[in-house]
Amino acid sequence: MTVISVPQAFNEEQLFVDLESIFGQSLFLKCEGFNFAGSIKLKAATEMVETAEREGILTPDSILVESSSGNLGVALSMIAASKGYRFLCVTDARCNLSTRLLMKALGSQVHIISGPDAHGGYLGARLDFVRALCASDDRYVWLSQYTNPGNWRAHYRTTAPEIARQFPEVDVVFVGAGTTGTLMGCARWFREWSRPVKVVAVDSVGSVTFGGAPGRRMIPGLGMSVHPPLLDESFVDEVVLVEEADTIRACHRLARRGFLFGGSTGTVVSGATSWLEKNGAPGLTSVAIAPDLGERYLDTIYQSNWLQDLYGEDVLEPDERADT
Ligand code: PMP
Repeated sequence: MTVISVPQAFNEEQLFVDLESIFGQSLFLKCEGFNFAGSIKLKAATEMVETAEREGILTPDSILVESSSGNLGVALSMIAASKGYRFLCVTDARCNLSTRLLMKALGSQVHIISGPDAHGGYLGARLDFVRALCASDDRYVWLSQYTNPGNWRAHYRTTAPEIARQFPEVDVVFVGAGTTGTLMGCARWFREWSRPVKVVAVDSVGSVTFGGAPGRRMIPGLGMSVHPPLLDESFVDEVVLVEEADTIRACHRLARRGFLFGGSTGTVVSGATSWLEKNGAPGLTSVAIAPDLGERYLDTIYQSNWLQDLYGEDVLEPDERADT
């Protein structure tokens, strides 16, 4: 088995990492965290803001407002700052401190919703707050990532063709589902492509997106506590659900080999490797999307006390921890 180390693992043309030596499965990871905003959400944020500008919805005194678990908030903070708009991010307790500070450093306001909604998530409460704000003052412009077609169009225009250019032989693409913008953009594009590609959605147990029962989820990014309006399941070939404990194991396994990714990447990698264990075949070309990197999760996923408080002592065996 060839062991690929960090310096050798990245493809130069675009940032893909080969996970074969870590997980024993041929799986390329498309790393979307290498931009100024640090995540894939820069693509959706750009598309939504520029569409709103073209449509005349944004004017110089507009105040952008959005509900975000963090990454879209950071991306919008950056775009708002660069274009001279004010921005208010409505988020919740799962948004970590460094992300909040990052948004503030970029000049944004951050509002934290305190309690979960009736489904155990925070989304309903976040959206109620945004709606009330927009009703109270018409300077607020809510791009609404959950319903805005610009969210999926960004990935239709960029993410999916980038994968196809780099891997013209791609057979399977694994995409994590949050708002489902990434999933729907990729799934729609690959459905129209010349080659049949299976698009597998990866979601967290406890998310209602694909009809599961709502449950506690502490890792931000993937999963929804209300049905995502952008989702059209007819474009999705398969769905894999991942327990948060497996997400954490995958994150720490990657970290021990020098790859510090965010939680949703752990979910997608865990879902992809378990799918490949059952369905993989020699020569199959598989690509998974890694939405961000791990530095924003140092005080959560990569912190022993946080893990123990939420998941108990035995969530990771001693030799699975990144910090042992
Ligand atoms: N991972 C992370 C870290 C994210 O911030 C998001 C966006 N919520 C996603 C995955 C999911 O992407 P999408 O909203 O396009 O489904």
